[in-house]
Amino acid sequence: MQCRMIEKEFEMGKGSTAKLAQATRTDPRWAAVVGRDGSADGTFYYSVRTTGVYCRPSCASRRARPENVQFHSTCRDAELAGFRPCKRCKPNQTTGSAGQNATRIARVCRLIERARTRLSLETMAAHAGMSPYHFHRTFKSNTCKVRRRASQPAAARLT
Ligand SMILES: [Zn+2]
Repeated sequence: MQCRMIEKEFEMGKGSTAKLAQATRTDPRWAAVVGRDGSADGTFYYSVRTTGVYCRPSCASRRARPENVQFHSTCRDAELAGFRPCKRCKPNQTTGSAGQNATRIARVCRLIERARTRLSLETMAAHAGMSPYHFHRTFKSNTCKVRRRASQPAAARLT
């Protein structure tokens, strides 16, 4: 009897694992994790239940099993859920992917240069594929590059 119950629990456990894995696989963000898509960095983070850490999509660490993965829109979300930042991709440090961010900021600079009117922070953040908060922080830390690249005063206004 007991044996059968344990068996049943095991079956149920297996079922929910499959469901969790399925939920992760159908999430478009999983594709970014699988592809280690650097352009998705800053747009979301993923945590791994078994290791207790959270990562950027582009993290080079061993790929987690989908049933152990959860997605978070911010580092704070992941930390509130009890995860710590990965030591490898340092998701909570903007300098961790400085090169990547510089590319995005440069892209926004070109947009600023082309724009006839002043762009809102939201517009620029969306163009960089970042949250307005993250974009603002990144933009500020990349200011010296921005100043050299974009001569338009619109670029400096944000700082
Ligand atoms: Zn990582």
